[in-house]
Amino acid sequence: MKIPYLNLATIHDPIKEELKEKFNQVLDSEWFIQGTACTKFEEEFAAYCGAKYCVGVGNGLDAIRVILQAYGIGEGDEVIVPANTFIATVLAVSYVGATPVLVDADEKTYNIDISKIEEAITDKTKAIIVVHLYGRVVDVNAVRKIADKYGLKVIEDSAQAHGAVCEGKRTGNLGDAAAFSFYPGKNLGALGDGGAVTTNDKALADNIRAICTYGSFEKYNHQFKGCNSRLDEVQAALLSVKLKCLEGWNEERKSIAEQFNQKINNDLFVLPQIDDRDGHVFHIYPLLCQDRQKLIAYLEEKGIGTNVHYPIPIPKQGAYKEMVQDMVKYPITEKICANEVSIPLYPGLQQEQIDYIIDALNDYKG
Ligand SMILES: *Cc1c(COP(=O)(O)O)cnc(C)c1O
Repeated sequence: MKIPYLNLATIHDPIKEELKEKFNQVLDSEWFIQGTACTKFEEEFAAYCGAKYCVGVGNGLDAIRVILQAYGIGEGDEVIVPANTFIATVLAVSYVGATPVLVDADEKTYNIDISKIEEAITDKTKAIIVVHLYGRVVDVNAVRKIADKYGLKVIEDSAQAHGAVCEGKRTGNLGDAAAFSFYPGKNLGALGDGGAVTTNDKALADNIRAICTYGSFEKYNHQFKGCNSRLDEVQAALLSVKLKCLEGWNEERKSIAEQFNQKINNDLFVLPQIDDRDGHVFHIYPLLCQDRQKLIAYLEEKGIGTNVHYPIPIPKQGAYKEMVQDMVKYPITEKICANEVSIPLYPGLQQEQIDYIIDALNDYKG
């Protein structure tokens, strides 16, 4: 049996005709940037998240970056970020000229260790970025208590957690502002690059929209040194189609993850914990396994694709070589990066494929 790590065809095949129809509508409209499809999707996505405003942007990295810029965060400021994340979270901080301050991961959630945030705060700290990594929601209410004590903004990097829930509220409505990515492989993906910011703060939303349109509220009148970062009409129209499927897809992801958790019983692996079912939308199913190369080769032999999220911790990346001496401060991140293996988990995965993956993992002898 051949099971690729990700197969977008199983996601797109059932809605292909509708996607083509929406593409044709945009083509016939001959209007490709800042039109009705984007406005419609922004309204739908804000409503889905439970947030008042949504601004479509070019991609997830830009979404984080323009939130920081709109808050006036830059040179001389510090922003707290998890050490265990995709590098885009950290790049966004560097991009505005601020200093990313890394905090190690929690051994249980793999997300930022909330108990270690306070000791990382200085008088330069302006914001905390929480990342709902792998689709598992961060306890933002606990982070909010710390942030309020020091007057900090809480920004969600929700690129991996569309639809995840924390105490009855969806991501995108948990902090002061949230960044989403619609990269094709995400839980809600466009057929190209795309992103969005959600917030309940009207002034912030307006400023972000201006920043993303060359820094202008009206044509040829420029208030900010902005950029060009927008969600185009084709992607927005396709995202509206896919948004209707998101809840069903997330339910499917959760039910596959539950099967993995219940049926994989091999002591060689540490499985992700699920104690709040809504709080996790399993963008990724991360196994921890020592000698991961051996497991990856074994699964490849069986026809099962894998991935690693992420093989090199940020302080060990060439781009952040100034941080390398700090690596000792992030032992949990180091362990996750050394041992993580992601196995196939996506809507449309067939029961026999799920069973095959479970059997292969249970048969693994190390
Ligand atoms: C994908 C991702 C991003 C970046 O999104 P792009 O749309 O690829 O720019 C940011 N943060 C996290 C956690 C991601 O997984």
